[in-house]
Amino acid sequence: MAASGGITRRRFLGATAGAGLALVASGGVARALTGPAFLRDRGAPLPGPPFTLGVASGDPLHDRVVLWTRLAPDLLAPDGGLGTAPVPVRWQVATDERFAKVTAEGRTTARPEHAFSVHVDAKGLQPDREYFYRFRAGDQLSPVGRTRTAPADDAGLKHLRFAFSSCQNYQDGYFTAYKHMADEDVAFVAFLGDYIYENGVQPTAPRQHEGPEPMDLAAYRVRYGRYKSDLDLQAAHAAFPWIVTWDDHEVENNYANDRADDDTLPPDRFLERRAAAYKAWWEHQPVRLDPPDGPDLRIYRELGFGRLAQVNVLDTRQYRTNQPCNSPLDVGVACADTAAPTATLMGERQERWLRRSLQRSRARWRVVAQQVMVGRVNFVPGGTDPVFNFDQWDGYGAAQQRFVDTLDRAAHGNAVVITGDIHSSWVNDLNARPGDDASRTVATEFAGTSITSSFDFAAVVAGSIAGNPAVKYYEGERRGYAVCDLTADEWRTDYRYVSTVDSPDATIETAASFVVDHRKPGAQPA
Ligand code: FE
Ligand code: CA
Repeated sequence: MAASGGITRRRFLGATAGAGLALVASGGVARALTGPAFLRDRGAPLPGPPFTLGVASGDPLHDRVVLWTRLAPDLLAPDGGLGTAPVPVRWQVATDERFAKVTAEGRTTARPEHAFSVHVDAKGLQPDREYFYRFRAGDQLSPVGRTRTAPADDAGLKHLRFAFSSCQNYQDGYFTAYKHMADEDVAFVAFLGDYIYENGVQPTAPRQHEGPEPMDLAAYRVRYGRYKSDLDLQAAHAAFPWIVTWDDHEVENNYANDRADDDTLPPDRFLERRAAAYKAWWEHQPVRLDPPDGPDLRIYRELGFGRLAQVNVLDTRQYRTNQPCNSPLDVGVACADTAAPTATLMGERQERWLRRSLQRSRARWRVVAQQVMVGRVNFVPGGTDPVFNFDQWDGYGAAQQRFVDTLDRAAHGNAVVITGDIHSSWVNDLNARPGDDASRTVATEFAGTSITSSFDFAAVVAGSIAGNPAVKYYEGERRGYAVCDLTADEWRTDYRYVSTVDSPDATIETAASFVVDHRKPGAQPA
């Protein structure tokens, strides 16, 4: 009932790899396989194969899904090596991977002002169904992507599987986790932030960024080109629709609204950088959004999966107040600021939207897909004052309480928060009063791990877990992703870890599994 189609993942990806080349190289065969209209009427030749960044789909609804690609014969050039003239692009959606049964097709234009990216909202599709899609530009065919629509709003869906991931620092290792994720049987991937990292070159890293920190649109485009060139990442995008949000590193570490990290840029200059970063993010993600024009882009949104699940995607960066306590470090002794009632991570509008959206929902599970950890963690338990990570919800205590109240009142124990950012794996029971372990458990949080990004404090943090009883599981050393399996009665999360990120040959294993009974919030070992 979830994402499995009639073919195995291996065969699908095998067929996908090199499909563009094969079809172009042997046009006669391609015509015979795929129907003539899409292949006739070829445009002007391009300077090279344009689909170097792969294909992607995202934000599935019951009747439509966003299809994405970006033409870039030169994948590290800001203009992709295409200059200034728009390029016509054709697209197709079919129910079979050979495109014998085409359901929808059309034309669009890849424009230089959007880095020759393409966002097509393919409509008129059937709910809860697998589709295949591809693009054509010039005389070239893209690889074939597979996607899946959401179930109808009133569908009594019995079963849903999805994966979530976050934090993929290219310089920290290989994205082999995505090669394994592409083999999973999931309906979608939720990506929770830190798709790129802004850091300059780290010469001793296993793989390197180009150039210094990106500060303008051209440099952010080059950075996305580098990340999107990864074939394992491309495979995971080509296998499932993604629901993507961002965290800080898509712009800069630990930024808050218009405040640069450590105030290294004045707010007006930082907003120019943010505008460039948001534009590049939009250009490279399969999202149903108009292109941003300036430093603002509303990305918080809701997606429905029948009566089984609603996914609310948050943005806890764009509207947040600055991190409290003027600490040069992320972690420190709590000061009075951490309880400031005016402090916010979501901003007032988004808080109101979330409250209403969750109250309106009749879905069994309310999935809140967001960035920083909600569960209270005192990193030095037993002291006079708690030690918090100021960038997490703990740094914004009043907002944290409002968030937990919203989950409690609207979701009646069936809210599950999925979280990125922390480069480690956590299962947290969320108390009605954060920090008061005697208060009711009202919701559950699954955080982490990271695709590659390292966690330098894994061992230190391990020593603090016993003093935080709401933390049901912690693992700081291992990289990977999580798979969630939902029925009406039970939520299950499997933590899937790769054996290494230092070489591209990692194996994968499930190292921990937790379940949530819908009648009883909080996680239990499976
Ligand atoms: Fe990160
Ligand atoms: Ca982060």
